[in-house]
Amino acid sequence: MRISEKQLELVDRQIKRINESGNYYSEVYKKAGISGVSTPEEFEKIPFTDKADLRNAYPLGIQAVPDEEVVRIHSSSGTTGKPVIIPYTAKDVDDWADMFARCYEIAGITNKDRIQITPGYGLWTAGIGFQAGCERLGAMAIPMGPGNTEKQLQMMIDMQSTVICATSSYALLLAEEINKRGLKDKIALKKGVIGSERWSEAKRKYIARELGIELYDIYGLTEIYGPGIGINCPNQHGMHIFDDYIYTEIIDPVTGKVLPDGEEGEIVITTLVKEGAPLIRFRTHDLSRIIPGECTCGRSYPRLDTITGRSDDMFKVHGVNMFPSQIEEILGKVDGVSSEYKIDIAHDEAKNKDIIMITAEAEGRVDFVKTADEIKKLCKSGLNVTPNVTIVSLNTLPRSEKKTQRVFDHRGD
Ligand code: ZN
Repeated sequence: MRISEKQLELVDRQIKRINESGNYYSEVYKKAGISGVSTPEEFEKIPFTDKADLRNAYPLGIQAVPDEEVVRIHSSSGTTGKPVIIPYTAKDVDDWADMFARCYEIAGITNKDRIQITPGYGLWTAGIGFQAGCERLGAMAIPMGPGNTEKQLQMMIDMQSTVICATSSYALLLAEEINKRGLKDKIALKKGVIGSERWSEAKRKYIARELGIELYDIYGLTEIYGPGIGINCPNQHGMHIFDDYIYTEIIDPVTGKVLPDGEEGEIVITTLVKEGAPLIRFRTHDLSRIIPGECTCGRSYPRLDTITGRSDDMFKVHGVNMFPSQIEEILGKVDGVSSEYKIDIAHDEAKNKDIIMITAEAEGRVDFVKTADEIKKLCKSGLNVTPNVTIVSLNTLPRSEKKTQRVFDHRGD
């Protein structure tokens, strides 16, 4: 979807504000001769920005307002060292809560619901975003934060929580515990709002079935407000993205070329009204596509399809580009195998070749040796790689309260 006149005006205003602020990006734009934008062609010439820029500008180099207007910071660390800091004004915090409340509404959640919030509070944007949106909606927040499964289940029963907010891994852990303890009849959950990361259909079906709930994917990242910039509608055809706050493009992650609607690539986001830390053409490294056409629900917000992975999760084995999602898809086809897995890549010096090792979980009822063999064969025929496969019992691999790291590359260790 091409950038609209209205969105262009907002971006133009953002660039002028950035340049006046003298922040990190004002230097970038001055050097590039960018003083504003009036056509889609001009917009597409604005250089991309990346997490690396935010690290360079650490701690507050991207702040575009005077100190007295900043009311809060958040931070994201990611998997590689130095954190980034994002300053928020009162309006940014407000806008974020409005968007988040809109997410709950789209999921059919009302002020009568009781929302149990398990993502972490603090520097990370997750917990506090779920909380602010809940309060804006007028629902009852049950601010648990992560961990302490015993207490989570107790509160879920005592408070009769109707909505659970969690990562997919933690929702899975709770579903497994509820199943194991036979608590399903004691809980009142109707809906799950799950922080969007790549997760398999198998995992989705298991959680939905075990908890007897409808699941919604909520999208967002700390650099752009946090979670809450888009969510599935009940029709479940992709996540509606709030184009009055952000503009979304899909690019080829290698060439940087903007791709037409429908084609899969990397999500690039421009904030339209953010004050504290405006970002223009920020590369998220999340992979998805824009679903062409209107949603059957009648909402006109554009839609992003399910996140299929991250462009920086891509790994090369024998010169072939691969994504964890490809392995995940194969595991989903094998009977008795859970949705949790881990991929280790190493180099065999003696044979001078890369080795890929997959660790997957399976239910006790299946033969581990046969299951490993089947996965091996499917990888060979589908991906043209022959991994070493280890099968372990259910619940052996760690369940994460944040995004789960799947790929461990030991080459060069
Ligand atoms: Zn819809």
